[in-house]
Amino acid sequence: MKVLAKHWTKLEGNKVRCELCPFRCVLKEGQTGVCRVRKNIGGKLYTMIYGSVSSIAVDPIEKKPLFHFKPGSQVFSISTVGCNLRCKHCQNWEISQVGPDEFPYLREYTPEEIVAMALPYDGIAFTYNEPTIWHEFNLDVSKLAKKEGLYTVYVTNGYINEEPLREIIRYIDAFNIDVKAFNDEFYRKIVGGHLDPVLKTVEIVHSLGRHLELTYLIIPTLNDSEEEIRKFVQWVHNLDPDIPVHFSRFFPMYKLTDKPPTPVKILHRAYEIAKEVGLNYVYLGNTWEPEYESTYCPYCGNLLIKRVYYNTEIVGLTKDGRCKKCGKKVNIRL
Ligand code: SF4
Repeated sequence: MKVLAKHWTKLEGNKVRCELCPFRCVLKEGQTGVCRVRKNIGGKLYTMIYGSVSSIAVDPIEKKPLFHFKPGSQVFSISTVGCNLRCKHCQNWEISQVGPDEFPYLREYTPEEIVAMALPYDGIAFTYNEPTIWHEFNLDVSKLAKKEGLYTVYVTNGYINEEPLREIIRYIDAFNIDVKAFNDEFYRKIVGGHLDPVLKTVEIVHSLGRHLELTYLIIPTLNDSEEEIRKFVQWVHNLDPDIPVHFSRFFPMYKLTDKPPTPVKILHRAYEIAKEVGLNYVYLGNTWEPEYESTYCPYCGNLLIKRVYYNTEIVGLTKDGRCKKCGKKVNIRL
């Protein structure tokens, strides 16, 4: 649905500049941004996807992945179409790499309808495609969701400007942000963006005290060197060693089919490096090894949360989030 957008500037000659994400697209009349969903119509910027929903599902929160936020809860998850990045390995390219006119299955909903559908569950997640580009709708849904006592989650590439981020963050409880590599060349060649704006988003989300977890998909030869992984985890450690980091296993996908699945030993090595550097919570995704998916107390090693696939069992935590064995407070929001 077409609605006047937020975060744009009028320029001379009926052009507009979108200020939502770091691309800052300058659009002539009739042009659409890199994301395919924001369009200059008559010298004004419109979002073409307000309320336009491509997918609805109910997921365990662990699937986002968020392991330290409301473990075991069920989250009503929605997406639209489009994305401001162009990842060659996108898992959801059928919805992320198309605009609203190219996807015949969009259904229109109001924020009230979305929140009503989410009420039987614990929260709402904006996920599957990039929520940044759905800003106006997400803002209205999340404001309403908070009033109704639902938690709210962003699963994002972090490619958003500071002003809109500070606007939406007031209504978002938890973020999983993809750091897709720790080198700008990867971002330019494989993703079609830059690394620095993503790191800035991570820093802002952390500084504002929102729950934050990071995902790093390890792709053979592209972002898997020990040096790069060490630099990444060192950067996270400097920010906060309590931030959970998920290293995920790559499988050939979309336009990146000339790389093999990530050898599991590379993921194990990334885990070791992160622990050596001093991160307290490190997980491996897509290897299906429960010992790398469960949460242990960083102080005494006690098993806190046991995860086998998407079965989650809180075994070693008190109700106020302390380790049952050593009594120390751990970074888990129950
Ligand atoms: S949100 Fe879309 S239109 Fe706006 S700057 Fe980013 S890519 Fe361009």
